[in-house]
Amino acid sequence: MLIVETLIEYATHSLDRPFSYIYKGNKKIERGYRVLVSFNNREIVGYVLSVKETDKNKEELEEELGFQIDEIKDVLDTAPLLTEDLLELADEVSEYYLAPKISVLQSMLPPSLSPRRSSLKAPKISYNQYVVPLDEDEEGLTPKQIELLRFISLEKKVLKRDIKSVSIVNKLLELGKIEIVLEEKRRLEIPDYKYEVPPRLSEEQEQVIKEFNESHDDVYLLEGVTGSGKTEVYLSLSEKVLKEGKSILMLVPEISLTPMMMEYFIRRFKNNVAILHSELTPAQKYDEYRKIAKDDCHVVIGARSAIFAPLKNIGLIILDEEHVESYKQDVVPFYHAREVAIMRAKKHKAKVILGSATPSLESRARAQQKIYHLLTLKKRINNQKLPATTIVNLLDYRNIDRDSYIFSKRLRMNIAQVLENQEQAILLINRRGFSTNVSCRSCGYVFKCPTCNIALTYHKTDNMLKCHHCDYVEPMEKECPECHSQYLMKTGFGTERIEEEVHRLFPKAKTLRLDSDSAKIKAKIPEVIEKFRKKEADILIGTQMIAKGHDFPDVTLVGVVLADIGLSMPNYRSSERAFQLITQAVGRSGRKEKLGQAIIQTYNPSHYAITLGARQDYELFYRKEMEMRKAQHYPPYTFMTAITISGKNENNVIQAAYDSVDYLNDKFKSDGVILGPSTPYIAQIRDQHMRTILVKYRLDDLAHDILKKYVDLFALKSGISIAINIDPYNF
Ligand code: ADP
Ligand code: ZN
Ligand code: ZN
Repeated sequence: MLIVETLIEYATHSLDRPFSYIYKGNKKIERGYRVLVSFNNREIVGYVLSVKETDKNKEELEEELGFQIDEIKDVLDTAPLLTEDLLELADEVSEYYLAPKISVLQSMLPPSLSPRRSSLKAPKISYNQYVVPLDEDEEGLTPKQIELLRFISLEKKVLKRDIKSVSIVNKLLELGKIEIVLEEKRRLEIPDYKYEVPPRLSEEQEQVIKEFNESHDDVYLLEGVTGSGKTEVYLSLSEKVLKEGKSILMLVPEISLTPMMMEYFIRRFKNNVAILHSELTPAQKYDEYRKIAKDDCHVVIGARSAIFAPLKNIGLIILDEEHVESYKQDVVPFYHAREVAIMRAKKHKAKVILGSATPSLESRARAQQKIYHLLTLKKRINNQKLPATTIVNLLDYRNIDRDSYIFSKRLRMNIAQVLENQEQAILLINRRGFSTNVSCRSCGYVFKCPTCNIALTYHKTDNMLKCHHCDYVEPMEKECPECHSQYLMKTGFGTERIEEEVHRLFPKAKTLRLDSDSAKIKAKIPEVIEKFRKKEADILIGTQMIAKGHDFPDVTLVGVVLADIGLSMPNYRSSERAFQLITQAVGRSGRKEKLGQAIIQTYNPSHYAITLGARQDYELFYRKEMEMRKAQHYPPYTFMTAITISGKNENNVIQAAYDSVDYLNDKFKSDGVILGPSTPYIAQIRDQHMRTILVKYRLDDLAHDILKKYVDLFALKSGISIAINIDPYNF
C-alpha cells in the first residue's frame, strides 16, 4: 500500500499543506501526478507531492495517526505534469508572493492539465486519422479501388477525411490493403509566413547587441524610443541563442500584440515557434503546451502565464513593453511576470531583457542603481523624426468646435486632411462604450451596478448598460426606475460614441473599432489590426489596447481624444499611466517615410504627465515622477503589500482586519507604515465582505518574515480568508 502526500485544489492559506491519502490500486503514481480524492465529502483534484510505500494496512495506519485516512479514488495522469525545474520555480514563486502553492501550480498549467476539478472536463489530445498503404497487391480489386490504393501509395500518407469516396476507403481498410495511423493534431492554425531576410542593423542596434553579448549581467533594460527597432534586436539576439542550442521565451503584454510578434518570429524561425496566450481555446493551449513540453520547438511567444512554459534549457527571456500592467496577475498568486522571469532565468543561467519606450519607474530605478544593465536606442530607424505634437486645451473656448462636442477644431481639421491625403489616423480614448453614464433629468437617479455601486456605461450597439468593473449587464430602460420620468440623459463618451461622431462628420470615412468589447469575440483583434494594416479602413478607434507596440506605416495622425481619464484616479501610478498612454500613442504616428502628427486633447494642458508625454521626454518625466514618489513615500522608494481579508460575516472580517493592523503595527514598529483597514472600492463580491490593509516598508526581507508569520497565524482563524498582494498596482 502507498501513502501519498497531496496538495488539494482549494487555494487558501489555511489548506496550504500536504494531506495524506492511501492508494491500493495498481496504476502508476508518482510525484507530479494529479489524483482524484475526497475532501469534506466532495470529490476534488489533488496534486501529488510524494509517494512512499508502507507495510501497514489502513487500520494500523489510522490507529497510529489517530484519524481516518481516505483512499485515492483515481490517478489522473500517466506522467508528471511539471519538471523538477518548474516545481522548484513554483516553490520559489509561492514563497516570494506568500501565495498558496496550489494557486501557483494552477497558474502555471493550462486548463486541461491544471490541478482542479474543471480540468476533468477539459479537452484531451486530438488526433488526425491518416491512411497509409499496407499491401499493394491489386489482385481482385475493382478499378476504382486500385485507383485509390495507387493514390495512397504515391502520397504515402493521406488524411482520411480528405478522401471523398468513403465506401471505397472502408472497403480497402476491410481488405487490409491500407491501415489507419493516428497523429496528434495541432489545433492552433499558424499562418504560413514566408522567411524574410533580416534588414541591415542600424548602428545603434549593432551597438546594443554587441554590448549585450559582451556583458555577463543577468537582467537588461532596453530603453528604446518608439520606432527604434527593438523587435529587430530581439530577433537578432534570439537567432544567436538558438544557434547555441538554447531556447527563447518571448513575452508580450497583451493578446493584441501577439499576432505581430508572432509574424516576426515565424518569418524568422518557422516551425520552431509555439504560441501561448489567454485567447487560445483550451484545446489549442493544450496542444501548444505539449508541443513545448515535448521539446518540439524552442521559441515560445505568449502573454503573462507563458513565463511558465515548459521550455528546457532557456537562454533568453524577453519581456516586450515591460511597463504594461497586464504582466501583473490581479488574482492570487498576484505574481508579476518580470519577477518570475528573473527567478526562472537564474535557474537556467539565462539572460533577461526588459524592453520599453517608457520603462516602468521600478525598472528604470533599478537600472539607475545598476541592478539592471541599461541599454538604449535613442534614434528612430532611418532617423525618422518624432511626430509633431500639439496639445489642445479644452478649457479654452477658442479651441472648441461648436458643431462637435468631441473633436476640437484642430483635431477635426487634421482628420479631414488625413482623409484627403488617403493616409490613416488612430483615435484613442481610455474608455470603451458609448457614454459613461445614464441619469434621470427629473430626479437625478444614476444607473449603477448593484454589486460595484459605480455608474454603468451605456453601449449603443446592443442597447445595454454594462459595468466596466464586473460583468454585470442590463438592458437600457426607457424610464427612470425611481420617478418613471422618460427624460434619461447620457453623458460622457467612449469609443462607440467617437465612432458615431466620425461617421456624422466624415460620412465617407471607413472606420474600425477595437476595445475590449469588440475583443470579446475571439480572433477579432488580429483581424481588425490586420484589416487596418492593409488599409481597409481610414480610421482606427480604440482604447489603450491599440496604443502600444503596433507598427502601422501609413498612420500620420494620432488623436488622443481625452488624455485626462485616469489622471484623477486616486492611484499613485496614475501619472505614470497617463504619460505612458500619451507617449505610446504619439509613437504610433509617422513611423515610415511620412512625418506624423499627434493631437492631444486635455483639460489639464500643463500637467507634467501630459506635456512630457507629448514631447516623449521619458528622462525628464522619470526624474520628476521619482521626486513625487519620494515625497509621498511610494514605490520605487518603498515597498508595498496589500492584504485583503474576506469572509461571509462582515463583523468577523472587520474584527480580523483590526486585529491584523494591531499585529502588524506591533511587529513592524517603526520599520513599516500600516494603513487601514479600509473598505475597498468594491467591498463585496457575491456573499464575501472585504477589507484591505496596506503595508509600506523599506526593508524587504524583514517585511517578508513578518508577513509570512502573519499569514500563518491569521489564516487559521475560522470564517475569514486572507489574500496577500505583494507590489500591488491599484492603491
Ligand atoms: P519599436 O518596437 O522600437 O517601437 P519596431 O521594432 O516596431 O520599433 O521597429 C520599427 C520599424 O522599423 C519596423 O517596421 C521594423 O520592421 C523596422 N526596422 C527595424 N529595424 C530595422 C533596420 N535595421 N532596418 C530597417 N528597418 C528596420
Ligand atoms: Zn427619475
Ligand atoms: Zn459591477
